[in-house]
Amino acid sequence: PLPEVPTVAGARLLVPLVDGTRVGYANLDHAASAPCLDTVRDAVDELLPWYASVHRGAGFASQVSTKVYEQARDVLRRFVGARRTDTVVFTRNTTDSLNLLARAVPKGTSVVLFDTEHHAALLPWRGPNVRRVEAPATAAETVPALEAALRRCPEGPRLVVLTGASNVTGELWPVAALAEVAHRYGARVVLDAAQLAPHRPVRIGELGVDYVAVSGHKLYAPFGGGALIGRADWLQAAEAYLVGGGATAQVVDHGDRLGVAWSAVPERHEAGSPNVVGAHALAVACETLSANWDAVVLHERALFRRLRAGLASVPGLRALSLFEEDGDRVGVVSFTVDGIESGLVAAVLSAEYGIGVRDGAFCAHIATRRLLGRVGAGEQRAVRVSIGLGTTAEHVDRVVAALRTLVADGPGVAYAVVDGRWAP
Ligand code: PMP
Repeated sequence: PLPEVPTVAGARLLVPLVDGTRVGYANLDHAASAPCLDTVRDAVDELLPWYASVHRGAGFASQVSTKVYEQARDVLRRFVGARRTDTVVFTRNTTDSLNLLARAVPKGTSVVLFDTEHHAALLPWRGPNVRRVEAPATAAETVPALEAALRRCPEGPRLVVLTGASNVTGELWPVAALAEVAHRYGARVVLDAAQLAPHRPVRIGELGVDYVAVSGHKLYAPFGGGALIGRADWLQAAEAYLVGGGATAQVVDHGDRLGVAWSAVPERHEAGSPNVVGAHALAVACETLSANWDAVVLHERALFRRLRAGLASVPGLRALSLFEEDGDRVGVVSFTVDGIESGLVAAVLSAEYGIGVRDGAFCAHIATRRLLGRVGAGEQRAVRVSIGLGTTAEHVDRVVAALRTLVADGPGVAYAVVDGRWAP
């Protein structure tokens, strides 16, 4: 029996199938966005009548919102074990957090990253000081590969961008070992924890990273709440990320120009009325996960073993891996099925079985294409199945049985490409 884990809202949602029946929805797309935890839904319900602008109003609702918002910051600090000198900036999501950091790094900072990163981590860094390292075929080789790149960096500030867990393959990167090398070369490390934080404890001290970026909607909270947690100094020295109210301590009219004194971090980078409900939802999700890590990890490991064993029994299924070692993974598998386009596989799973998966190149085009080439897949897209707290053994068994039937018998109804996607 699987351990008791926190429940998610909508676990018993029914969805219509192409044959007119309805089945319980099997959401196997947790890596894209995870369903909301019941604790989060209850907390949001309670706050909704009370939200108001933080730090500004003297009214009761404003006081409640300010308190909730600042408590959420403390929860995020504890969630990652932040240091005293770290700050927590609320953002929209991981993409926003990484773009904020990219804007805040000191001029001339050398940025080193592996080329398999998600676009959110790959693209914000521009200019001649960005070094993209081809991700090696083994996890063990990532450490010397990073070291070689750092050795070639000019003097000055350095930043290494790392992902905790791949959104394409679920594989965990050897973050602590990579961070250790980075620090030896005077580099800071930012961890894209979008996929790792929902599934494993992320502790700044144990991993040795300097910044952590997370997204609420991957952490079982709704969209719009994210955070960048990490060293305050670069963020404090940087121009405000967005300009406007809230980011300013004082604005004075000098006639020909405005004199603006920017607030200290974190407010400096949180211009505009902040997303109090989003921050609260994210914080409640973090608290729920923190109180249940052992059960969460056991539950997901058991279901993931079942999923991988099941998928291995599907003829012609080619699963993708970044590394040759079969190391620890969060519950993500991407694959192709010989002779059946990935878009069609995803359409059949949805229309005939009520299973939600993702197909495509997962905003990690370089990684996905390389891995597809490696397994000899004949296309540029893959199917991704990803599990989490909303997943049951029945969902796992259903997707495996559906794929076996699809391979043996083909689709049950006719499909055509409509507006660029397969549809019944
Ligand atoms: N990094 C990784 C590894 C991701 O999987 C994602 C989301 N797919 C992101 C960053 C970006 O997250 P968001 O869209 O919430 O900004």
